[in-house]
Amino acid sequence: MMNRFAQTVTERHLSLRRSRPEILQINVGKLCNLVCVHCHVNAGPKRKEIMTRETIDRIIDWLAKTDIRTVDLTGGAPEMIPDFRYFIERVKELRSPRHVIDRCNLTILLEHGYKGLARFLAKRKVEIIASMPCYSAENVNAQRGDGVFEGSIVALQLLNSLGYGIDADLPLQLIYNPVGAFLPPSQGELEAVYKRELQKHFGIVFNRLYTLTNLPIGRFAAYLRHNDRLDEYMQLLIEAFNPATIEGLMCRNTISVGWRGEVYDCDFNQQLGMQWNNGQPIFLWDVNPDSLENREIMTGDHCFGCTAGAGSTCGGAIM
Ligand code: SF4
Ligand code: SF4
Repeated sequence: MMNRFAQTVTERHLSLRRSRPEILQINVGKLCNLVCVHCHVNAGPKRKEIMTRETIDRIIDWLAKTDIRTVDLTGGAPEMIPDFRYFIERVKELRSPRHVIDRCNLTILLEHGYKGLARFLAKRKVEIIASMPCYSAENVNAQRGDGVFEGSIVALQLLNSLGYGIDADLPLQLIYNPVGAFLPPSQGELEAVYKRELQKHFGIVFNRLYTLTNLPIGRFAAYLRHNDRLDEYMQLLIEAFNPATIEGLMCRNTISVGWRGEVYDCDFNQQLGMQWNNGQPIFLWDVNPDSLENREIMTGDHCFGCTAGAGSTCGGAIM
């Protein structure tokens, strides 16, 4: 049976298929120093799933044969896997240049044992996309834990001092996601407020603010269910379906890889275990990147989170 999302796409005579892969998004594991309320990965300090060096080497060998330009590292806190720096060094050593993104929770940059990490990232010109769900302490600490706001501010100041958000080759983007069961406000307007407030109170500068919609999976779904708001939130997403977002969905040009090298259409599908399969589970090294155009995308009801309102991707709003 077709899920409600696939049904909606069909009814509207839309088509959701892959284009050429441009981004390899790698979720290196579920280990994290934080335990955020909205986390769709259920990440935390006790998780054991992390990528090994052997898997990293296989990914690098595969990547070297492709023209995929961007490697987007996520987690968990991707910096916490033992071979995080090794991974970046190897990508940067490839003959054709690749852009690397680190999806960073900021506080990890200040943790014991991670000194020099920010400097390492700056030296390798790694773009930083950092979660910062609000510009005020109260909201951030409620969603991410006590003291996370204060730590994030210090980390942003450290990044600015290294040139992040200032030098053209050291981009620093922030991510906003709602603290409850509602859609994000206008990205452009919120960006202006963030810029004004962070500059005024903390002297912090950054490039872009990306607004993300929380998808009803993982810890966020549990949180909604606990508060008896899951159905209501799902309905909100369905009613806000915007057909114009389909074209810009990240599952069209991104390949999502898990900590064992397994492949998915996006990080959300990854958390739901919707691995690619051709009778057998598919790993990155089984994939021919030139054969992906027009491949069908595996969807589910959670996809309504990406198509609601202005749309939502790992690079922010679509519209
Ligand atoms: S949302 Fe990010 S920082 Fe928070 S627990 Fe999940 S992976 Fe860690
Ligand atoms: S959840 Fe994944 S597959 Fe579904 S629309 Fe969003 S990016 Fe695409």
